[in-house]
Amino acid sequence: MPVNTGGKPDISREKSAELYEKAKNYFPGGVNSPVRAFKSVYGTPLFIQKGDGCYVWDADGNQFIDFCASWGPLILGHNNAKVREKVTEVMQNGMSFGAPTALENELAELIIKNNKFVEKIRFTSSGTEAVMSAIRLARGYTGRDKIIKFEGCYHGHSDSLLVKAGSGLVTFGETSSAGVPKSFAQETIVIPLNDTEALTKAFEQFKDEVAAVIIEGIPANNGLLMQDPEYIQFLQNICKEHKALLIFDEVITGFRLGFEGAAGHYGVKPDIVTYGKIIGGGLPVGMYGASAEIMSHISPDGGVYQAGTLSGNPVAMAAGIAQLTELLRSGFYKDLNNKASEFAESIQRFATARNYKLKVFYVGSIFWLAFTDKGKIQTAEDIDPASMEKFKIMHRELLNRGIYLGPSGYEVGFISAAHTKIELEKAKRAIFDSLDVVFRNK
Ligand SMILES: *Cc1c(COP(=O)(O)O)cnc(C)c1O
Repeated sequence: MPVNTGGKPDISREKSAELYEKAKNYFPGGVNSPVRAFKSVYGTPLFIQKGDGCYVWDADGNQFIDFCASWGPLILGHNNAKVREKVTEVMQNGMSFGAPTALENELAELIIKNNKFVEKIRFTSSGTEAVMSAIRLARGYTGRDKIIKFEGCYHGHSDSLLVKAGSGLVTFGETSSAGVPKSFAQETIVIPLNDTEALTKAFEQFKDEVAAVIIEGIPANNGLLMQDPEYIQFLQNICKEHKALLIFDEVITGFRLGFEGAAGHYGVKPDIVTYGKIIGGGLPVGMYGASAEIMSHISPDGGVYQAGTLSGNPVAMAAGIAQLTELLRSGFYKDLNNKASEFAESIQRFATARNYKLKVFYVGSIFWLAFTDKGKIQTAEDIDPASMEKFKIMHRELLNRGIYLGPSGYEVGFISAAHTKIELEKAKRAIFDSLDVVFRNK
């Protein structure tokens, strides 16, 4: 068991531990996605048995207020009645046909009518797939091969995007995973975020070779790295100037910051947008979209091939329809975002009053607890890896107080419509007490 860090005694995790031992026989690291393995925090993964509203319960019967929200999709909370009913209804007619259904039209119409950034779309089964296809589309459309990405942005696990910065301001990527050919990484240029000079240099160096620049609408996979609005504007202009496409990867921010995601937030029009997470209401759905003209390059209309056996799956479409319908209700985002900013700001006030080195960065209903005294963190480099030790202690203290955060200090938290004032108050108190332990004030 973990070392004693001076806080509350650990909750019982016996059943989860047993399940994890078993899982290690079946899956590498005992999990089907690496971050779930609790490698960056104390203890072993909690096996979740059920979720309802803002709560989850683990195999040992412990109850938690959940801020992981399945890593973002559950903006209405767990087991939302509207989503569950729609899915259950549609399931009665079968699970998959590999032929078009009216449900695809219905979800597409909901999106296209209420989002000025896409005219035509294609559904996929994950965010990774959506982004991978968007990159192919950009290459097919421009007839160019290179893409520019930013250090600190995550775009799923396709080969071209598993690259990190080498040394130097403008560099070819180095693969960040074994198994990615060096030659692939050579097509991806990696530069720091929020840096107009790096962007200018990259375009000077690779002028007519750049098919696209891809950025997370608001980078939220490596802390929450808020970009200056002027920088995003600059990014759009320089892409235009060089006839490179601007791809907004909105797999996290899409339908989270508002129905039009980060593009709506900034008022910037990307050439291609990708969505995932929220769009599927908890079932596997991704999507990419663009103008009708750009999308006409996708097969069978155009020469860029992309397909999927389960793409537009009716049950998944049903979940998306039910969830997005709720998001379109008037005042939905205003209420949610107000709740979230109140939550974030009161944690900040507490930390500031006690002189704790903690900054609560937030936008919309996304928040990130960063152990830092920097006023702004806008690039991957600004994050101090040593600060993660403090997160580790906080994570453990929070679990012991019934609060579930994603098991890594680089991950953001999400507030859902199901978090009521009562639970947010409870969560705040637990966070305050945990911070006191982290900073050894108790
Ligand atoms: C989660 C995420 C992805 C990958 O989506 P998956 O559904 O996990 O494949 C891609 N881009 C961003 C910005 C994400 O947050």
